[in-house]
Amino acid sequence: MSDRKPFLAGNWKMHKTVEEAVELASGLAEAVGSETGRDIAVFPTLTALPAVQDILLDSVIKVGAQTCHYETTGAFTGEVSAEMLKDVGCDLVLVGHSERRALFGETDEIVRKKLEAALRVELPTILCVGETIGEREAGRTEEVIKRQIESALTGLSAQQMATITIAYEPVWAIGTGLTATPEQAQEAHHYLRGIVRELHGEVADQVRIQYGGSVKPDNIAGLMLKVDLDGALVGGAALTADSFAAIVKYSEG
Ligand code: PEP
Repeated sequence: MSDRKPFLAGNWKMHKTVEEAVELASGLAEAVGSETGRDIAVFPTLTALPAVQDILLDSVIKVGAQTCHYETTGAFTGEVSAEMLKDVGCDLVLVGHSERRALFGETDEIVRKKLEAALRVELPTILCVGETIGEREAGRTEEVIKRQIESALTGLSAQQMATITIAYEPVWAIGTGLTATPEQAQEAHHYLRGIVRELHGEVADQVRIQYGGSVKPDNIAGLMLKVDLDGALVGGAALTADSFAAIVKYSEG
């Protein structure tokens, strides 16, 4: 087992009214209690962010945003900058989620700029990478995740790397019920850690790599047995307090 602290995060995507988000956050705070052996975060919608922050103020659960723009201010209708997230006390931001890449045209270059924006205001990030099913079937998994990681992380300092978590999320496993096997996930995580080591040396051993893609209470423990898996980024199963709390409290084998 590594000495990296497990990090479990719930991405609520475009779900929950403020009232529903408050109910979920309250249920989670109660279920998770004062757990300190694991880092925990949730990513509500922007409309629910302040209310969820209020509820989780005295809890161990951090609250993040699902994306940000790379500019500080300007004529970018509908967007919110990293500075603005920092201004409202956001703890984290997700960058490069595959839904942002696929549905909103976020290229590697845009993802890099968003990461730089978050670094500019010292907002810790979860950087998401992962291959599509077509890329996996064509034997291109390593090439794709290497390109995504190198584009985002080349040239950063060790201090900056320390604020970044990587989420390996094979696109074919997101929201599909098709979880990568622990072996498939370990293979990709080991490869990714090697790329981070090539870029940044031994800080690679400190960088946490979460797995994401149909993580559920009944498969988290098996995934977490693998040495390069340091947590999970969870979508569907993070939408109820019972299910996300069960994931957070998985038992170590
Ligand atoms: C995600 O959106 O990051 C995700 C992993 O979703 P799900 O757990 O629903 O597959």
